[in-house]
Amino acid sequence: MRMILVGPPGAGKGTQAARLVGRFAIPHISTGDMLRAAVKAGTEMGKQADTFMSAGQLVPDEVVIGMVVDRIAEPDAVDGFMLDGFPRTQPQAAALDVALNAAKVALDVVLLIEVPDDLIVGRITGRRMDPETGDIYHVEFKPPPADVAARVVQRKDDTETACRKRLSKYHSETAPIVPYYRERGLLRSVDGNAAPDVVTARIEAVLAG
Ligand code: AMP
Repeated sequence: MRMILVGPPGAGKGTQAARLVGRFAIPHISTGDMLRAAVKAGTEMGKQADTFMSAGQLVPDEVVIGMVVDRIAEPDAVDGFMLDGFPRTQPQAAALDVALNAAKVALDVVLLIEVPDDLIVGRITGRRMDPETGDIYHVEFKPPPADVAARVVQRKDDTETACRKRLSKYHSETAPIVPYYRERGLLRSVDGNAAPDVVTARIEAVLAG
């Protein structure tokens, strides 16, 4: 299964991806996670990416494309993968096609998780992460347990200002790739405005249909 997850920031892509990869036994390839790991490791690429990420901007295509093309060529991704947060621009979508064509493989499905803009800001600004486990919480919808609450952190790009920038980038850069996949018959969409279990069930239904 070669699958792409698309949706605005805070749509629940990471949560749903973590559930789906278990079911399909494919690696979860999140460009956001890879970039955050590079920032943490202090690599040259991480330093370059950090400025863009903190401001809610997209990291330049040439950086992200090279990273993903290398990653999907690794042995664990040869038979399938779940791309989360990539492609996010038309040049990224085109570059992915080139890489997949060269490898003589094709995408199976592009899953769009839709959530209205007015719900996104609350979802994102309340989001907290446990730096030890990577587990994601929400101050209102899923508060961290008492022993974890003191150490949770907010991502630098989960502030309201950065969130609004990310949302506007989603509409200007990422949403235009949706018709590209729809025309090829690859697109399936689900309403992401529900509890995570409900959204998982909706995804399973569209994937089975
Ligand atoms: P995410 O965890 O998917 O929300 O990504 C966090 C941030 O990483 C984004 O706001 C961008 O700054 C950067 N990023 C992640 N994936 C990409 C991508 N495919 N293209 C450009 N920037 C990306």
